[in-house]
Amino acid sequence: MITINRLKKTYDGHLALDIDHLEIPAAKTFAVIGPSGCGKSTLLRLIIRLIKPDSGTIAIAEEIINDATERKLRQKMGYVIQEGGLFPHLTALKNVILMSERLAWPKEKINQRVEELGDLAGLTSRQLGRYPAQLSGGQRQRVSLMRALMLDPPVILMDEPLGALDPLIRARLQCDLKKVFNSLKTKKTIVLVTHDVAEAAFFGHQILLMKEGRVIQQGSAQELLHSPSDPFVTEFIRAQRPPIELYE
Ligand code: ADP
Ligand code: MG
Repeated sequence: MITINRLKKTYDGHLALDIDHLEIPAAKTFAVIGPSGCGKSTLLRLIIRLIKPDSGTIAIAEEIINDATERKLRQKMGYVIQEGGLFPHLTALKNVILMSERLAWPKEKINQRVEELGDLAGLTSRQLGRYPAQLSGGQRQRVSLMRALMLDPPVILMDEPLGALDPLIRARLQCDLKKVFNSLKTKKTIVLVTHDVAEAAFFGHQILLMKEGRVIQQGSAQELLHSPSDPFVTEFIRAQRPPIELYE
């Protein structure tokens, strides 16, 4: 479980995030939605500590992230961003195994894990030999997913991982991604940011709707749909096409 308390982040005096208390359940998929600029990426960056909060705490399985624990805790998290965030000068394979090499994993263990993840992500060893620029957007996101899963971390953070893909590729990857999540032996705590309500409902056991740095509602898709805590919830859901009812 990820526990957040009295978390505040400002940029030049402008409040980007202000969350009093939030619990992200373990071993489930948690979708974060909200309009552009509402603080979704800021929340993920704070969890993986690419940035530090002005105040407040984040704990991963009750261990608070601070300067002393950040290195260790970061290894417990995989992170996937919209454009993949792969190193362009490294092959897909090198991108995937970079951290395991740094941690001096035996070659045998690395090869075995790559084979396992390649099957899971639907990539061949030939594709893994290519550089990111030689892969399609969808393939790059599959590589990025492999990299995030390589060390088998208990937490996976995904920031609009499918946001840059065209609708057909996106739909296929949504299904594949869900299959991957379901097939993992030990279930992971997945935090998935999207601005698409239907995608959030497709993946998320729970959904967190944010607005202007604050939590508006946390609950299942059904709860957001049928028991909105604020008119903004309905407004946000209604603004999506096709409407979320199609996915019920
Ligand atoms: P989202 O991911 O929901 O679109 P972000 O978390 O990226 O939103 O941004 C939240 C707010 O913080 C926005 O108002 C954005 O302009 C601001 N912000 C984000 N990153 C920075 C930064 N590095 N410097 C200044 N302002 C930032
Ligand atoms: Mg963002």
